[in-house]
Amino acid sequence: MRTAPITPNMSLWLPKELFIQMATEASKWSPLETGGVLMGYISDARDVVVTAIVHAGPKAKRTRISFRPDPRFQDDRIAKQYEASGRQDCYLGDWHSHPRGSPSMSWRDRRTLQDIAEYKPARIANPVMVILYGDEWRIAAWQFSRKRFFAYGNSVPLRCELY
Ligand SMILES: [Zn+2]
Repeated sequence: MRTAPITPNMSLWLPKELFIQMATEASKWSPLETGGVLMGYISDARDVVVTAIVHAGPKAKRTRISFRPDPRFQDDRIAKQYEASGRQDCYLGDWHSHPRGSPSMSWRDRRTLQDIAEYKPARIANPVMVILYGDEWRIAAWQFSRKRFFAYGNSVPLRCELY
């Protein structure tokens, strides 16, 4: 019997160098959670292509079980990156760490993803959430979906590819 989830044929592409930056940041704050913003574009094949990240900001709040970024700092950096990239780098979603934790979305993570999807100024109907987890930072990615997908609520897993 199949027990593995049936994953949609979509991937999240993340530059190795950005992954290293995220893992370094995650290690720096462990055992507290940390995170940031993912920017980039959706390819013609509907893959999510990350090309830039925005850090948490000076007023971010971190605990062992939660992370809240500094929204003012991030909004400002997102707008600057959007212009600097010739309007190619758009807001895609967020990432955060689960130090020594699991790749699963917590109920709070699901709610955050839904809030992003419903927040019009974010201008993304299917935002993503990337989770760095475990002892040596493995990566998992989830994308908001209006369709309920098995036990995952409103998020579907994406295959992660480093490039
Ligand atoms: Zn989480």
